[in-house]
Amino acid sequence: MAEITPWYNTRIDCPVCDSKIEYTKIRYKSIKLLKQDTDFCPYYEGENPLFYEAVICPECGYGAHVTSFQSINKYEKARIREMITKRWKKRSFTGHRTIEKALEAFKLVLLNLTDMEAPKSEIAKICLRIAWLYRYRNDSENERKFLEHALKNYMDAYGQEDLSTEGKIDEYTCLFIIGELCKRLNRYDDSIKWFSRLIMLNADPQHKDKIPQRLMETARDLIQEIKDHMAAAKEETN
Ligand SMILES: [Zn+2]
Repeated sequence: MAEITPWYNTRIDCPVCDSKIEYTKIRYKSIKLLKQDTDFCPYYEGENPLFYEAVICPECGYGAHVTSFQSINKYEKARIREMITKRWKKRSFTGHRTIEKALEAFKLVLLNLTDMEAPKSEIAKICLRIAWLYRYRNDSENERKFLEHALKNYMDAYGQEDLSTEGKIDEYTCLFIIGELCKRLNRYDDSIKWFSRLIMLNADPQHKDKIPQRLMETARDLIQEIKDHMAAAKEETN
């Protein structure tokens, strides 16, 4: 009997070149979520499914997050054909992925999104995942670099995009993540400002029901952590 691996290949149609392609998925039964960092970075027992979220077409080089692979418009397709496919050397991304292979796939997705002028929220989502991959590898310099990119794009998304569209990060989680990323990047005043905006929305009955209360609890905890940290730092300089 063949050995059962935690990963398997599944088929999908590439919306850019119309090829039937394969990509690799993880059997959810084979893994267990152990914990998540405050910016939602997940840790698993068993294979990490995050490594497989960047789907690349081996034929034309188009790549996207697995949840948005087929949502691409005419204009974006034309950009991919022009900017990516013309330079693409056919290669496969199926099978087991190391962190390095996952980074390569995610960076290709980021290149695709930049070239097709994708919404900032989608660019931010990929930058955040690249930062997490560097975190798993204890590469804090590159982690910070991609957290900065994620933060900038989430801020732009908050200001420019309609976040009530299905499939997008909702405005409350977006506010939370901006506050959280500011905190991670030691921009404490900004962090408090963004978390406070979320807390203000929570005071409005029109919004309150839509905000996950766990998000609010974590936001309050993080504000307190920042205040404690700032008070301690002030004491040290006195
Ligand atoms: Zn393709």
